[in-house]
Amino acid sequence: MLKSAVSVRPEDIRKLADEKGYVIVAHNYQIPELQEIADYLGDSLQLARMVTKIDAKKILFLGVDFMAEVMKVLNPEKKIIVPVRHSTCPMANSLTVEDVIKFKEKYNAPFVVYVNSRTEVKAYADVVCTSANAVDVVKAIDSDTILFGPDKNLASYVAEKTGKNIIPIPGETGYCYVHNYIKEEEIKKLIVQHPDAEIMAHPEVPKNIRDLAHFVGSTSQMEKYPAKSQATKFIVVTEIGMIAKLKKLYPEREFIPVTGMVCYNMKKNNLKNTYLSLLEESVEVLVDEEIAKKAKIAIERMLEITESKEVKR
Ligand code: SF4
Repeated sequence: MLKSAVSVRPEDIRKLADEKGYVIVAHNYQIPELQEIADYLGDSLQLARMVTKIDAKKILFLGVDFMAEVMKVLNPEKKIIVPVRHSTCPMANSLTVEDVIKFKEKYNAPFVVYVNSRTEVKAYADVVCTSANAVDVVKAIDSDTILFGPDKNLASYVAEKTGKNIIPIPGETGYCYVHNYIKEEEIKKLIVQHPDAEIMAHPEVPKNIRDLAHFVGSTSQMEKYPAKSQATKFIVVTEIGMIAKLKKLYPEREFIPVTGMVCYNMKKNNLKNTYLSLLEESVEVLVDEEIAKKAKIAIERMLEITESKEVKR
């Protein structure tokens, strides 16, 4: 009987991946059971870098579509599969090539695109960035005016940190629904309930929430923060999937989630469809070759900037 007809256990997926020669790569926002069986777990920058270094020919990616496409762009010779075709990111989809052309014509400024974007939009960018390196990437560009999209909140954070004239594109409609709608009262309520807790917030949250935080950073930066802090409790203002990873890294500390911070697109992957994906070796991720070539240039510029920055540190 196929596993699809009975319940699938994480160890069944692990065994099948090993038998078929797949490396499992998962984003921090995946459900805990999938995080457990991943060979590599991280944020988009960590994963993009890691995949260029492994020699596996087949990858099962657990995340959303634009991330899977970044893997494919950087590794065109590898077979990359995902459990569901339409695990997408509404924020990535909010910025189109037509928008980019229009803003470039108007401002004639370099365009930095957040990795949470469509691959064809990356092909029109000067350089890609992630939430972990957006500030460094923008500082490295020799221009005081920069087009930045699609996340307006990350754009405002970068403007604050660099002092540059950051023009968010497409503008008001570019945001992550998981991070944008956090209520200040909700965070203030948690502060009253846990007065000894420190607040860690993702830069995709709006400024009024960032201003309440002790630490603002990407998920990979949040992973390191508790090690530097004396606090034993943390209010974690990002997608709920991150709580499982933090608890595993720091079992003696307490991590408090914010109600409702769930990315339903990330949660489309589950044990059953992940198992079936390996069984059928589908859905394969494919990217148009010309678009991939151009997007790759912008992604590699980001990696160059980040790596030279690390050497200097
Ligand atoms: S958490 Fe937000 S930015 Fe990340 S994939 Fe989900 S909708 Fe997109």
